[in-house]
Amino acid sequence: MMHQKICKTCHRSFEASHRGRRFCSWQCAKYKAPAVYRFICPDGRSYVGAVADIRKRFDRGIARSNPWLDAAFKLHPPETWTYEILERLPPSCSIPRLREAEQRHIDHLGCWKPDTGFNMNPPVWAANGPMQKEARCRSADQTRTMMARKRAEWAAHIALVKQVVADA
Ligand SMILES: [Zn+2]
Repeated sequence: MMHQKICKTCHRSFEASHRGRRFCSWQCAKYKAPAVYRFICPDGRSYVGAVADIRKRFDRGIARSNPWLDAAFKLHPPETWTYEILERLPPSCSIPRLREAEQRHIDHLGCWKPDTGFNMNPPVWAANGPMQKEARCRSADQTRTMMARKRAEWAAHIALVKQVVADA
């Protein structure tokens, strides 16, 4: 027995074999309200991030950690930071599209430099801007692992885009 349902995220109708299904896809179930946000330190520096569902992001404050942030927390505890939403993306948008938006805001704010922000690692490793070059110079294992993971993500995305073009 199939049930005709309306997806809660994209509002398209879909056939569900299970009555309780509310989303047409995994993407719609996870990326309900994708957005790029920033946390602002009282000294004016920013940390930019991206999230699949912005409605839950600010419940716990800035729950992130890297060496630049940890150093700032000693002077400015997390609860003294403020936040704002920089951009909302369409529900169920792709991960690379969300990362592209995140990278655009990081580039615009310049918060990949320690005197203006806390973004140690670029969200988009496929690009070759000053942020990517600087991050490559840091040779921590963590950075190498993250680079490998994000390169694989982009390769999968590019393969998918080529497939869509070939199918059209
Ligand atoms: Zn959907």
